[in-house]
Amino acid sequence: MAKVLMIGAGGVATVAAFKIAQNADVFTEFMIASRRKAKCDKIVEDIHKAGYKMDIKTAQVDADDVEQLKVLFNDFKPELVINLALPYQDLTIMDACLACGCNYLDTANYEPKDEAHFEYSWQWAYRERFEKAGLTAILGCGFDPGVTSIYTAYAAKHHFKEIQYLDIVDCNAGDHHKAFATNFNPEINIREITQKGLYWEDGKWVETEPLEIHKDLTYPEIGPRDSYLLHHEEIESLVINYPTIKRARFWMTFGQQYLKHLEVIQNIGMSRIDEVEYEAPLADGTGTAKVKIVPLQFLKAVLPNPQDLGENYEGQTSIGCRIRGIGNDGKEHTYYVYNNCSHRAAYEETGMQGVSYTTGVPAMIGAMMFCKGLWNTPGVHNVEEFDPDPFMEQLNKQGLPWHEIHDGDLEL
Ligand code: NDP
Repeated sequence: MAKVLMIGAGGVATVAAFKIAQNADVFTEFMIASRRKAKCDKIVEDIHKAGYKMDIKTAQVDADDVEQLKVLFNDFKPELVINLALPYQDLTIMDACLACGCNYLDTANYEPKDEAHFEYSWQWAYRERFEKAGLTAILGCGFDPGVTSIYTAYAAKHHFKEIQYLDIVDCNAGDHHKAFATNFNPEINIREITQKGLYWEDGKWVETEPLEIHKDLTYPEIGPRDSYLLHHEEIESLVINYPTIKRARFWMTFGQQYLKHLEVIQNIGMSRIDEVEYEAPLADGTGTAKVKIVPLQFLKAVLPNPQDLGENYEGQTSIGCRIRGIGNDGKEHTYYVYNNCSHRAAYEETGMQGVSYTTGVPAMIGAMMFCKGLWNTPGVHNVEEFDPDPFMEQLNKQGLPWHEIHDGDLEL
């Protein structure tokens, strides 16, 4: 029924590939391409070992290079390109999609390499071009952004006349038994957490110092966890698409051990994203030469690979939306919709931990929505602009069931 090309072969891509293979009735032709073909081949090998028979093609591509992408797209001719590489590659992949007539989906908004700054403006600037070409671009289809935005759309469609207060709450209560590791690409993760906090209140953005605001929030089946207010990209589109929102915030849990390491990393300059000169030994042993390295990229090379955390990962994640507003009956109501995901169950199914799982599954479902013709409106769209119902139905079927609490105490 549909031909899809996935770019990237990391943790999230591995999960999405497993889920695509589990839904072979929708995804009839599938290729995985990444910087290193061997990593794509390894994913295919693992999928086949797990008993899924799908014939999956693989290829090498540098997604920073539009010309290379164009050659690949013109050769494979995918209807949809699923971008699960890094946020740095969003624009090159969108350019190649426009040039070759392919539709597009990603899970994170564009970030320039030399500036820890993420916002949708760069990708929204492609709206007219995608519209004119009759192509659909689906932005931010992971868990957060992604499912959290779809939860909000679902609440607006079924439970609220007016959403007034939105708090997205993201708890990882898992233990990977490492002193310090990030759950997805360390470079992207540390850039996100070390920047200033930002939230929306009364029609304007309010900035905070990094991790300045925090409070204990109680998560289902987990209990209280210290939760920190962060800037997170889905708030940017949600306050535009739901203008009745008076305040929108994003919270994420961090343990003391994680924060202690993060502080040291920052204090010793290892979170820097500018180039520094380093005296490196020459390969032939004849002396040294000055080379330029980016400390955060170097740090990524020595930290545990998030893809390898799954084996001993215990506990679960809990991510959801806590909403207060005016219900369809004209009275004030609260609503909490969330999913809990077990790291162990994710690992047993896909070999990856829960954070990769909660991102890769929605990426596959978004692709499924497109391929089934349910989410294809030419232009560039955030996921809350589409019908949430068929997506919510698939979440229950594909391993991320959701639960609702009506009129409970939101703590916020
Ligand atoms: P990884 O670093 O594990 O994977 C990224 C993959 O992209 C790697 O296989 C990497 O290659 C490949 N890649 C990097 N640069 C290029 C390039 N120039 N050309 C081709 N391939 C390239 O990251 P994750 O799997 O953890 O994350 C994937 C995406 O998901 C990121 O954008 C991340 O921000 C996003 N994400 C979104 C979440 C959400 O809820 N919305 C949550 C978590 C992550 P190699 O293997 O050779 O390094």
